[in-house]
Amino acid sequence: MVDLVASTEDWTLCYVGLGSNLATELGSPIQHLQQALTSLAANLQIRELSASSFYVSVPMGPKDQPDFVNAVAGFETTLKPLELLSFCQQLEQAARRARLRHWGERSLDVDILLYGQEQIMTPELTVPHAGLIERNFVLLPLRELAPKLTIAGKPISYYELSSDWTGLKLLSADQ
Ligand code: ATP
Ligand code: CA
Ligand code: CA
Repeated sequence: MVDLVASTEDWTLCYVGLGSNLATELGSPIQHLQQALTSLAANLQIRELSASSFYVSVPMGPKDQPDFVNAVAGFETTLKPLELLSFCQQLEQAARRARLRHWGERSLDVDILLYGQEQIMTPELTVPHAGLIERNFVLLPLRELAPKLTIAGKPISYYELSSDWTGLKLLSADQ
C-alpha cells in the first residue's frame, strides 16, 4: 500500500557566508547579496531564513580591488551538503560570477560555513569552511546572527577574531 503520510523530513541548521565586491548589469554588490537572500528564501527546501547585517570589509586577496560587502545567512534545509553546494553555485552563476583571479573580485561568493554539526572533507567540500575561524568578516556577522553558536565544541566568543573589527565596518544606510 502506498504510504500517503508525508515522511518526516530532516531539517539541518546551516550557515552560509555571502560576499560581493563587483557590480554587474544585474546590480550592485548590495543588490547581489539581497538577490541571493531572496533566492534562498524562495527555495522550498529552505525555511527559517535569517540574515545578519551587511558589513564592509577590506579585500583578503589582492588589494587592488574594491572593498567587499559581506553577510551571513542562517536557515534550516532538507538539501544534502552537496545539493546545498550546488545551490550556492547556482546563486553565484545567477549573479554572473566570473573567475578572474584567486581571492579576486567577484559579483557573488556563497560559501557553506556550517552544516549542522557535520564535518566534511571531500575534494568539492570542506565543512566547517576552512577559513571560518580565520576571517573576522565571517565570524562577526555569524556571531551577530547566532551569539550562542559553538564551533568545534567552543563558543563562538572563544575565537578572538569574532570580536576583532580590523578592516571591517557595518554598512551604513547611505552606502
Ligand atoms: P575560499 O574558499 O578561501 O573562501 P573562494 O570562495 O574564492 O575561496 P571559490 O573559487 O569560490 O573559492 O571556490 C572554490 C571551490 O571551493 C569550489 O568549487 C568548491 O568546490 C570548494 N569548496 C570547498 N568547501 C567549500 C565550502 N564549504 N563552501 C563553498 N565551496 C567550497
Ligand atoms: Ca569565499
Ligand atoms: Ca566560494
